[in-house]
Amino acid sequence: MAGDLILVLGDQLTPRLSALRKARKGRDLVLMAEVAEEATYVRHHKKKIAFLFSAMRHFSDELRDAGWDVEYVRLDSDANTGSLGGEVGRAVRRHGSGRVLVTEPGEWRLLQDMRGWQERLSVPVEILPDDRFLVSKEEFAAWADGRKQFRMEHFYRGMRRRTGLLMEGDAPCGGCWNFDAENRKPAAPDLFMPEPHREEPDRTTGEVLDLVEERFADHFGDLRPFWFAVTRAGAEAALAHFISVALPRFGDFQDAMLRGRKFLYHAVVSQYINAGLLDPLEVCRKVEAAYAAGEVPLNAAEGFIRQVIGWREYVRGIYWLKMPDYADMNFFGAARPLPEFYWTGKTDMACLAAAIGQTREEAYAHHIQRLMVTGNFAMLAGIEPRAVHEWYLAVYADAYEWVELPNTLGMSQFADGGLLGSKPYAAGGNYMNRMSDYCGTCRFDVKRKTGAGACPFNALYWDFLVRNRALIGDNPRLGQVYRTWDRMAEEKRAAYRESAAVFLSGLR
Ligand code: FAD
Ligand code: SF4
Repeated sequence: MAGDLILVLGDQLTPRLSALRKARKGRDLVLMAEVAEEATYVRHHKKKIAFLFSAMRHFSDELRDAGWDVEYVRLDSDANTGSLGGEVGRAVRRHGSGRVLVTEPGEWRLLQDMRGWQERLSVPVEILPDDRFLVSKEEFAAWADGRKQFRMEHFYRGMRRRTGLLMEGDAPCGGCWNFDAENRKPAAPDLFMPEPHREEPDRTTGEVLDLVEERFADHFGDLRPFWFAVTRAGAEAALAHFISVALPRFGDFQDAMLRGRKFLYHAVVSQYINAGLLDPLEVCRKVEAAYAAGEVPLNAAEGFIRQVIGWREYVRGIYWLKMPDYADMNFFGAARPLPEFYWTGKTDMACLAAAIGQTREEAYAHHIQRLMVTGNFAMLAGIEPRAVHEWYLAVYADAYEWVELPNTLGMSQFADGGLLGSKPYAAGGNYMNRMSDYCGTCRFDVKRKTGAGACPFNALYWDFLVRNRALIGDNPRLGQVYRTWDRMAEEKRAAYRESAAVFLSGLR
C-alpha cells in the first residue's frame, strides 16, 4: 500500500505537529516546499522570508536526523510550480501517495484552497486540527456562543483556570487577575536596556540570504544584518535570554517607547512561537517558573502570560469564528489610501518615522508602536482598513493572518465596530509625549493644538471623534471625551477641524 504524503507548512516547524503525529516513519514521506505564491501574495519583508526559508531548511534536517524521509523543494528548484497545491500534486504523482495529510493552515485563504485539493488532485486529503493552540476553534465558538460582546478579560480568566498558570487553587496569584495598571510607566533612555539574543547566520542561512536578495529585491525592508534564530535551540536561547535579562522589567515598561531603543524589554519571540519553534504553553511555564523562583515580579510574569494565553488565543478564536467576512469589515467606512510613507518611512512625524524605520530595519516593532503609532495614525486619518491590514501582514516577521488581522482590523482600527475591543484606541499627541521621547526631536510641536507646526495627532484625534460621532458617540467609555468637545469654544472646534482638513488634504 502506498504511503501518505505529509505536507508541513513553513509555520508548522514542530515535531509535535498533528500531521506528523499521525504519520509513520519509514513509510510516509514528508514534503516541505518554498513556493513563490506564499512569499509574494503580499510583498513580505525580506527578513521574514529569509527567516522562514532558513528555519524550514533547518527543520527539514531535524526531521531527517529523526529518521523521517523528507522531500524538500527549494524556491529555485527548476521544477517548482510556485504553489503549494502544485507541489503537493507533483509529489503525489511522483510517489504514488495514497493520501495527503496536513495540519490546517493559519489562513482562511489557504484552507479554502486545500479543501479543493482532493477533487483537483484526485487523492484523499485529510486536514487535521492545529492543536498547538490551547483552545480549539470549536471550544472558542462554544465560549462565544450567546455572548453579546466578547471581552478578552473574561476569556483570559478562563484560560488561567484551565492552564493553572499563576493560580493558587481557584484564585489568581497575588489576589488579582491583571496588573496592567502597574504596566504603563514611561522609560528613561539612561535605564539599562537589554538587546535581544542574536545569532550569526550559518551556511544555510547565508544561502537563503543570497536567494532572497536576488529573488525578492523589490520587497519591503532590509535583509541584512540578519540575526534571527532559525532553529529550535536558537529560539530557546532567545527565550532564556529574554527571561533572564528583560522580563523583570517587561511589565513596568511594556507601553513605553524610546528613540533608538527598538526592543526595550520586549521578548522578540513572536516570530518563533508563530512558526512553531517555541511552544506557547512551555514559554509561559518558563515565565511562571522564573516568577516562582523570585527572579521576576508578578506584574511582569502576569503581563507576559496574559499576552500569550489571553490575547494570542483570543484573536485566533475571533479570526476563525468570523472569517471570511471579518476581512471586509470597515465600520467607519474609511477609504483613504495608505500614505506612501508607510513604505518609505519618510515623514516629518518623528513617532511614525521611528516606528516605520525600525520596521524596515528589523521586521519588528513592539505592540504599542503598532497599536498607538502606526495603527492610531491610520485610524485617525481614515485609511482604508484592508490596506492597513495588508501592510501589517507584509512588514512584520511574526505576521500571519490569524493573528495579524484581528489585531489590525479589530484592535487597532476598530473596523469590526467593537467586537474585539470595547473602544477605539485613539490618542492625540499628549499620549505619545507621555509614553515616548519621540516628540522632543519632532518638527511638529506636540503642545500646539492647531495651525502650522502643530502636532498632527492633536487635530486628527478630535476630527476622528467628531467625524464618527454617529457611530461611536454613545460608547460609554467615550462619554467624557465627547463632553469635553461639547464644552469647547466654537472657534477652537473649528480650528481643530480646519487643521485636520488641511493636513489630510496634503496626505499622499
Ligand atoms: P512581547 O511584547 O514581548 O509579548 C510577548 C508575547 O505575547 C509575544 O511574543 C506574542 O506571542 C504574544 N502577544 C502579545 N500581544 C499579542 C497580541 N495582541 N496578539 C497576539 N499575541 C500577542 N502579533 C503577532 O504575533 N503577529 C502579528 O502579525 C501581529 N500583528 C499586530 C498588528 C497590530 C496592529 C497590533 C496592534 C499588534 C499585532 N501583534 C501581532 C501583537 C503584538 O504586537 C506582537 O505579538 C508583539 O509585538 C510581538 O513582539 P514580542 O515577541 O516582543 O512581544
Ligand atoms: Fe508624533 Fe506629534 Fe510627537 Fe511629532 S509631536 S513625534 S507627530 S506625537
